[in-house]
Amino acid sequence: MSCKMKVPLLDLKIQYAPLREETRKLLDDILDSQYFIGGPYVAKLEEMVAEYSNTKFAVGMSSGTDALIAGLMGCGIYRSPLDEGSADEVILPTYTFFATAGSVWRCGARPVFVDINPDTYNIDADKIEEKITERTKAIMPVHLYGQCAEMEKICAIAKKYNLKVIEDGAQAIGASRNGVKVGNFGDCGCLSFFPSKNLGGLGDGGMVVLNDADLAQKIREIRNHGMEPKYYHKHVGGNFRLDAIQAAGLSVKLPHLDKWGEMRAKNASFYNKAFEGVEQIKCPVIDSANNSIYNQYIISVPNRDDVLAHLRSKDIGCEVYYPVPLHMQECFAKLGYKQGDFPNAEYAATHTLALPIYPELTEEQLAYVAQEVKVAVAK
Ligand SMILES: *Cc1c(COP(=O)(O)O)cnc(C)c1O
Repeated sequence: MSCKMKVPLLDLKIQYAPLREETRKLLDDILDSQYFIGGPYVAKLEEMVAEYSNTKFAVGMSSGTDALIAGLMGCGIYRSPLDEGSADEVILPTYTFFATAGSVWRCGARPVFVDINPDTYNIDADKIEEKITERTKAIMPVHLYGQCAEMEKICAIAKKYNLKVIEDGAQAIGASRNGVKVGNFGDCGCLSFFPSKNLGGLGDGGMVVLNDADLAQKIREIRNHGMEPKYYHKHVGGNFRLDAIQAAGLSVKLPHLDKWGEMRAKNASFYNKAFEGVEQIKCPVIDSANNSIYNQYIISVPNRDDVLAHLRSKDIGCEVYYPVPLHMQECFAKLGYKQGDFPNAEYAATHTLALPIYPELTEEQLAYVAQEVKVAVAK
């Protein structure tokens, strides 16, 4: 095996090459039209994503983060300067990308963290109920790394306590649980088209997918300063609009997404097989009810930082998602959490790493990565 092999964590250039002509043609159309915000390309992408997600509605957003904020605001989680008393509370996992908690905070609500399941890295649904208070307004489960959280348990709790459910599906467009796709469990699902996600745009973008017509309309208004009709503001919203250029680029990619998903799953099987019987390596555990889209392929190893260093020395791209659980982030220090509060999340933060899983990886590259991981854990 060539010692000069290089395997990046992600290579978007390979994916772009066959789509180049089609993408550039649409971009030219948009440039010629000088119609950049909203418009027919955004409407078309919304239709495509709703159909893909089996939801009635899809509302284009400027990013996944803004989709979360608009979803929260749409569900009434927003603290105005006139509100008195304590803040609303939103329950979410402590182990996720920052935006999940950041958006809760920015809506003026208090993030209430819950530990994760050590196998799936998703919120431990059995630890949610004990966190509910009279101020709890919503649960924000995250479908981390492309596999769904335990939505039937989460939605049952939400129903019992009359809570909203805003799904953070930023890593999970098209992922399903018992055949049901992201965005169909809770009040709404929030997607991200950040370039490194399974469906990545030409920059930032996101979408809210949902089935309730009134909430869809409200979120559509919130996306544009709560304005309807023009210059009349029923709600306070923001500028959360999606660009035509993003929508056009995404509309070229979406028809390929399922094929790319299958290629990712095949790569995951390759690694799983290669690591079989290697005691030090814990492969991703996919709940049997779930169909994962493998936004990431995460392994857990005893000597994580050594493995990272070894792989990097071999030109293999790898990454730690996420080195610091949210309850330990400096900006949330005043919430009063401490080290030891969420042992599964803290363990994951210190023992897991992501390996390259993008669709176009060759078998030679996969074998090289697997071999070097095995060398590194045996050290
Ligand atoms: C990427 C991501 C987001 C934010 O999406 P952006 O489009 O980057 O704003 C939110 N939550 C999770 C879990 C993510 O992975």
